[in-house]
Amino acid sequence: MAGYGWGRRALPVGVGAVLGAALVVEVLAVLLLLRRRGRGRGGGAADGEPLPFPFLPLGALLFLLGNALENARRFVTASPSTRGVMLAGAGQGWEYCYSCQTHVPPRCGHCFACNVCVLRRDHHCTLLGQCVGHQNYRYFLALLLHGSLALLFGGVLNAEAVVTTLQEGHPTQTILLLVLPWLMFLMGQVNVVAFAYAFVTDACIVGFLFATGFLLFHSLLALRGQTTKEWFEGDRRYDLGWRDNLRQVLGEKWPLVWILPFIASPLPGDGITFPTRCPPAESPPKTRHL
Ligand SMILES: [Zn+2]
Ligand SMILES: [Zn+2]
Repeated sequence: MAGYGWGRRALPVGVGAVLGAALVVEVLAVLLLLRRRGRGRGGGAADGEPLPFPFLPLGALLFLLGNALENARRFVTASPSTRGVMLAGAGQGWEYCYSCQTHVPPRCGHCFACNVCVLRRDHHCTLLGQCVGHQNYRYFLALLLHGSLALLFGGVLNAEAVVTTLQEGHPTQTILLLVLPWLMFLMGQVNVVAFAYAFVTDACIVGFLFATGFLLFHSLLALRGQTTKEWFEGDRRYDLGWRDNLRQVLGEKWPLVWILPFIASPLPGDGITFPTRCPPAESPPKTRHL
């Protein structure tokens, strides 16, 4: 299914790209600082020896950020909406959407932010301005994975830079700086460089916790074959066992989709009909509200 334009979604992806590039530049500066301090402490090369360029950690960060950005781009463009999809007939479990004025299949839900019905709708991602649904769930999960790893990487490196910068100071000062960077800076306890490292550390750790929480929750949902709404309702009629559940949302090559977004992994379903673990006739009756 083709995407239906970037529109307002170009802004968050562009901001993400700029922040990612800023993180790369900042981490490069941190890596060079740590090498220089390491040499000064006698932990690395001898004085006067050229500093080795940190290819490996920088390459790892670029891989994680590049992966996250490409997954974000594909998440936004692989629209899971019903626009352009032939929705012929109204079988069992279909409902009528008064906003779109059409019958929609099971697990489909109307998004008032996107102003369209979304196939196997999970939720609307406010940060990227796109719904998470049948077509882009894979990119959503991979974005969370690589984004959280990149943030953890940046946070650990910056925390190391804070410790290195305050090497002469008391450990309590380091802890206070990491917990309350603004207060320590405004009280004149630390210079602007140490404050900047502590601020980036905190931002990375908060982002990491946020992304990891989402990743764990949605990984659990994928393993159980549920959307967020079905999880709240305790509806497990689409639970086919964890392996088949992952195949349904991540595609045939579900173990590989985490590595690169370019690896093709066709989805077995069309987003309109879904296999259930019991025959449809035995499914519990349920009233759905759009
Ligand atoms: Zn609708
Ligand atoms: Zn939406």
